[in-house]
Amino acid sequence: MEYRFIERKELKQKPAPGAELGFGKVFTDYVAVVDYNPEQGWHDARIEPYGPMDITPGTMVFHYGQSSFEGLKAYYIDDHTINLFRPEKNFERMNNSNRRLCIPELDPKEFTDLIVEAIKIEKDWIPKEDGKSLYIRPLIIATDEGLGVHSSKTHRFICMFCPVASYYKDGVKPVKIYVEHEYKRACKGGTGFAKTAANYAQSLKSQEEAEEAGYAQVLWLDAIERKYIEEVGSMNIMFVIDGTVVTPELNGSILPGITRDSALQLLRAKGYKVEERKISIDELIEAAENGKLQECFGTGTAAVISPVGEILHNGKNYIINNGEMGPVAKDIYDTITMTQHGKIKDEYGWIRQINI
Ligand SMILES: *Cc1c(COP(=O)(O)O)cnc(C)c1O
Repeated sequence: MEYRFIERKELKQKPAPGAELGFGKVFTDYVAVVDYNPEQGWHDARIEPYGPMDITPGTMVFHYGQSSFEGLKAYYIDDHTINLFRPEKNFERMNNSNRRLCIPELDPKEFTDLIVEAIKIEKDWIPKEDGKSLYIRPLIIATDEGLGVHSSKTHRFICMFCPVASYYKDGVKPVKIYVEHEYKRACKGGTGFAKTAANYAQSLKSQEEAEEAGYAQVLWLDAIERKYIEEVGSMNIMFVIDGTVVTPELNGSILPGITRDSALQLLRAKGYKVEERKISIDELIEAAENGKLQECFGTGTAAVISPVGEILHNGKNYIINNGEMGPVAKDIYDTITMTQHGKIKDEYGWIRQINI
């Protein structure tokens, strides 16, 4: 895609090596932006300074939440190489979200190429320390000005970049979660499978209550029968029950995670028994009570694998694998992170290497 480069007058101060980065708190110098209107389609691509934009209070996205987003990471390999992990998958998923949200689709290859150009410009922002990376956040917002409820005709794609800390700077720490019985995340026919702001807006209350109670995340159950396990916080979930890896099947209300997909592919290739199916909370609790629940872990781009050490359900705490990361989680975590960081061969063609 042709793009304009609008240079900053002054570059921002980069964080010192070893500085606390947190997650999504530090933004780099530039964003990649592409506008959409029905006449021109996606047009006027540019890489421009990160900063305030020409958007008025009447802009539709602020009122009705018509938007989609993505999340992926770039990894420093050496001074001439940066790795991206399955970037086209993110743009294909963005198109799935867009179809649900009446946002025009985009060309995954063209948009991947555009962010590759931006990453080349921002290469000095990619942390070199082990485990750190550059988080990439593509976002699309509805930009028509007006309060009538209908789909916006114009949209803006904005991709921003944040150097981020390793999720596990003090080693992998399994988290405590509880089964959420009051709030629901999504239901079939809704937007659960789409990566969109709306799903998050309504999950904040539950997240806040979980944190207040000393839990990291909640385990979401399906909204209709209040019975089947869906996801954990903003991650997909997997269990090892009696030697078999079980994960909820994609059903329209679960977000199809790219880490989930990668983990399933690896697990099958490594010869694990894997089942994608409905799993009820009763089945899970029964497995825990019979000593058959061997592992539980979340999968997502931010943490890759997040082991769950404890689940609270109906006032009872179930400790999983003595509150430690289990061997299946560790195997998948090691294989995915070593592939991302170029430490083992990329067996599946998952890496898009950027040469600089
Ligand atoms: C992004 C996301 C995930 C994880 O997807 P990855 O592609 O693995 O990062 C899982 N659940 C929800 C609700 C999400 O938004």
